[in-house]
Amino acid sequence: IDAAGGVATYIDIPLSRLKESGPSDNQNAMEVDLNAVYLVGRATIRQGKQDIAFPIESGPLTKASKVAAAREIGPFGFVWNTPKTVAQEGQSYPGFAATLAGAEAQTNQSFFIDYRFSNQDFVTLDIEDIVRGNFDPATLRGRDVVIGYVAMELEELSSLPGANTAAESFISIFAAESIKLGGVGFMHRNEMLGAFAILLLLTTIFFRANRKYCYWLISTGFVACLVAPVFTPLHLEISGALTLLVAYAFMRGLARWRGSIEMHSGQTGLPTLKALVRNLERAQLQERHAVIAVKLHGLSDVLAVLGGEQKLEYFGGVAKRLKIANQDLEIFSDDGEHLVWSDRFEDRGILESHLLALRAIFARPLEIDGKQVDVTVTFSADLSFTDAASRRIGNAIAMVDKTSLADLPIVIGDQQNTQDREWKVSLQASIDSALETGAIFAVFQPKVNLKTGAISGYEALVRWNDAERGFISPAYFIEQCEQAGRMEKLTRFMLNEATEKFQASEAYALGGSLSVNVSSTMLSNTSLPEIVCEILDEAHFPEDRLIIEVTETARIHDELTARSVLSALSAIGVGLSLDDFGTGSAGLETLYNYPFSEIKIDRAFVKDIATNKKARTICEEVVQLGKKLELNIVAEGIEDQETLRLLTQMGCPAAQGYYLGKPAIDPLTQPIHGSRVAES
Ligand code: C2E
Ligand code: MG
Ligand code: MG
Repeated sequence: IDAAGGVATYIDIPLSRLKESGPSDNQNAMEVDLNAVYLVGRATIRQGKQDIAFPIESGPLTKASKVAAAREIGPFGFVWNTPKTVAQEGQSYPGFAATLAGAEAQTNQSFFIDYRFSNQDFVTLDIEDIVRGNFDPATLRGRDVVIGYVAMELEELSSLPGANTAAESFISIFAAESIKLGGVGFMHRNEMLGAFAILLLLTTIFFRANRKYCYWLISTGFVACLVAPVFTPLHLEISGALTLLVAYAFMRGLARWRGSIEMHSGQTGLPTLKALVRNLERAQLQERHAVIAVKLHGLSDVLAVLGGEQKLEYFGGVAKRLKIANQDLEIFSDDGEHLVWSDRFEDRGILESHLLALRAIFARPLEIDGKQVDVTVTFSADLSFTDAASRRIGNAIAMVDKTSLADLPIVIGDQQNTQDREWKVSLQASIDSALETGAIFAVFQPKVNLKTGAISGYEALVRWNDAERGFISPAYFIEQCEQAGRMEKLTRFMLNEATEKFQASEAYALGGSLSVNVSSTMLSNTSLPEIVCEILDEAHFPEDRLIIEVTETARIHDELTARSVLSALSAIGVGLSLDDFGTGSAGLETLYNYPFSEIKIDRAFVKDIATNKKARTICEEVVQLGKKLELNIVAEGIEDQETLRLLTQMGCPAAQGYYLGKPAIDPLTQPIHGSRVAES
C-alpha cells in the first residue's frame, strides 16, 4: 500500500485473520513506515469495564500509532455518534474517525454520523488482490486505506443502517466524512421534547375539535425526525419526544375510555345527555335541529316490576319506537324518566304532527318477556336555535315536566321560554336576600269610610324593588315565592313589617284598622293562627285592629283545614276579609263556607259602575247583601269622582282606590283625599 502511494493505512482487523491470506509474519512490517500505520483498537464493555482490543499484541507493528473506536449502540440498534477519544484505564486513544478525518476533526465532543453516505461511495478492494499485486496501484494513490473485514458471525455484524453485511469500519469512515463535511446538525433530546410538547399543547388548546389532523401531523413529523439522519445532515434525538408521545397517547386513551363510560348510561343502556351535548356541538347542529324530550310517565312503577335486563329491554324498546320514522336517530337518556334527542326541524306544524303520531304509537303496550308494559309519554320540543346545546336540553326537559297526559301532552317552546324560566329561577333564588336587605317592603293604601270621609284603615301591600330589575309586580313574585316554598316566610315578614311600620306611623293613633293580605295557600298551614298570635303579642298590636285579607281563594284545596284555620283566626279576634269578591271562586260559596267579616268588591265591577248598568247592579246587590249579613263592604279600585259618587249613593260603607289614596311607604305621606267623599 505504501508503495502504491497510500497516505495512511488503518489496520482494523485482528492480524490473525489475515494469516491465511498472506503477510504471515511481522518481518514484512519491519520495512513499512510505521508513521503511516495505525492500529485500530476496538472497545467493548466487558464486565462493566471498557476493554480495547488491538489487532496485534506483540511484534514490531505494535509500535504503530494507536487509535480506537467505540461501538456505542444507540436507538434502533445503530451507532449514531462516535467519540473523539476512547479511554481505557486512564489511557486515552484518539478516536478512529477523528484521526481519519484529520485536521478537520477539531471538535471537542463526540460527533454524529451522517448516514447519507453509502459504502458504495468508497473504493473497496479485496485484501487478497492487494497482497497478490492484483490491482491498479493508482486506485490507492493519495488515499487513506482502511483494512477492515466483514463479520461473518452474528454478534460481530456491523450496525450500518441498510447494510449490516458491510464492514464495521464503514461506521468510522462515514463518521470521518461527516466531520469533514462540517459535522451533523444535532437537536438534543430536551429541545425535541420541548418541540413536541408545544405541538401537543397547541393541539389541546386551539384545535380540540380537529385533534385528528393534529395527530396526523405530529406522527408524520415524528416519522420524519426518525428518518431525518438518513436523508439530511440532521440528527434528532427523539427518545424524549417518543416518551412524551407515548405518555400522551396513554393519557388520552384513558380519558377517552373514561369519557366513553360517562357517555353511556348503565341504567338505560342508552347514551347520556353529555353525549348529546357533544354531538350537537361537534356537528354544529343546534341551528337546524329541534331538541325533543319525552317524559315516561309512571316510570318508577314500571321499573319496580322489571328485572335488570328487562329494564334495558324496556328502554331499548321505547327508543326503537321513537326511531320509527328515522332509524338514524340516536336517543339519549338522563338516567331518569326523560329521553332526549335532536332531529332536523322543518316547521312547527310538521313537528307537532310528528310528535302526535309518536304518541299514538305508544298507545300499544310494549311486550317485555311476555309482560305487557304500558308506556305513557308526553313530549316537548325546544326551538331556541341560537342557545347553547346544554341549555336547550335543559329547556326541553323543563318543558316536558310541565306537560300533562290529560290536557297538555305536547309543549313546543322557544328562546322566550328559556329566558322566562331562567328569570324565574334567579328570582326564586333572590327572594331570601331581598327579604333580608329590605328590597322587599310594605306600602300602605288607605281605606276610606264613605259616610264620614275619614280613613277607616290601611291595607298593607308588598313591594319588591330589585336593584337590577326594578319594581317586580307582587302578582308575579308571589307565585314565585310559592314555588320556592317561601310563602310562610313572606307572610310572617309582611305581618311583622306591616304591624311595625303602621304602629310607628302617626296614622296608627287615628285608630283605624290594618289589613294584611294572606294567600289562601297559607290556609292549609295549621300554624297560621299561632304565627298571627305570636306577631300580635310581640308587637302589642290590638287583635281587633288587624284584618286578614284572604286572596286567591280558588286555591283552597283542603276546605276542612281552611275552615278550622279561619275559625281559629276569627277566634283570636282578627277580622277576615274576602278579597276580590265576585271574581274566580271568591263568590257566594266561599262567603257561605267561611267566617268572613268583610267583603272587598273586586275592581273588575267597581271600575265600570259609571258606564255599565250590570256592574252597577252587581255592586248594589253586594252592598245590600253585606248589610243583611252584617258584613263590612269595601269597594276596590276607585279611580274617579263619578265612581265614588255612585258608591256613596248606593250606601257602600267603605272604599279604596287611587282616587282616594295611592299605596305609600308611610301611611300619612301621601295626600289622602278623604275630602273628596264630601265633595261627591
Ligand atoms: P289586592 O289585595 O286586591 O290589592 C289591591 C291591588 O289593587 C293592589 O295592587 C293595589 O295597588 C291596586 N289598586 C289599589 N287601588 C287601585 C286603583 O284605583 N286602580 C288600580 N288599577 N289598582 C288599584 P298590587 O299592590 O299590585 O297587588 C296586587 C295583588 O297582590 C293584591 O291584590 C294581592 O292579591 C296581592 N298582594 C299584595 N300584597 C300582598 C301580600 O303582602 N301578601 C299576599 N299574599 N298577597 C299580596
Ligand atoms: Mg287585598
Ligand atoms: Mg283585591
